[in-house]
Amino acid sequence: MNIKKKIIYNRIILKISGEFLQGKNLSGIDNKLLDYIIQEIKSILPLGIEIAVVIGGGNLFRGKYCNGNNNLKRVLGDQIGMLSTIINGLLLYQSIKNKLINVYLMSSFPIQGICTGYNAFKAIDLIKNNIIILTGGIGNPLFTTDTAACLRGIELEANAIFKATNVNGVYSKDPINYSDAKFFNKIDYDYVIKKKIKIMDNTAFILARDYNMPIHIFNIQKPGSLYRILTGTIEGTIIKNK
Ligand code: UDP
Repeated sequence: MNIKKKIIYNRIILKISGEFLQGKNLSGIDNKLLDYIIQEIKSILPLGIEIAVVIGGGNLFRGKYCNGNNNLKRVLGDQIGMLSTIINGLLLYQSIKNKLINVYLMSSFPIQGICTGYNAFKAIDLIKNNIIILTGGIGNPLFTTDTAACLRGIELEANAIFKATNVNGVYSKDPINYSDAKFFNKIDYDYVIKKKIKIMDNTAFILARDYNMPIHIFNIQKPGSLYRILTGTIEGTIIKNK
């Protein structure tokens, strides 16, 4: 059911990090947070917005843990990291399905009997009636799922990327350590890149900048934040071209 409400986008990519899913645990998944994220997603479905979720894997494994010193090479670490995103994706998939919501999972590389391979054209067809979960990052080592979010956003002709974080948005400096840190409601990519503000890796930003893909950085811990932004409330930070 679509409700009449002014919406600012028709199709979005929601990037959820593994770190968010682990909550206060040192690793793994906090089921309460999984349920919470599904509630937040469910709340926007009546708006008729099409949504693909790019899921991270940092709660289970990150490639940088393998730095050669432990006899494990970075590429191997990244492969394990990409598999971690599939594990998170499968859990998210099942939890969404349990709520009787249409959902479809793809991975940048297929695993026979577990998940199908990513196909942009198929995803564009399916996204009309399903939440699409995109796993496996971009399928190559040395990248991140933030880059995957921007890349898939461009491929799937999304209107914007929503990066769910535990912070309110982008500040000029770390607001915990600097009381004079300035909060930005709006900022441009080149400024973020020039000032080396750490929100996403540069590859992700440059892709978004070159293809004019707005990125919203917002605090997913504030209930209803996704809904509010999508219905026009100024909340969090929007990064776009000047
Ligand atoms: N990764 C990768 N290629 C990709 C995406 C991810 O090699 O395209 C690996 C990388 O090792 C990364 C890990 O998967 O550390 C988990 O992804 P990410 O760090 O983006 O997860 P998040 O921080 O969002 O939980």
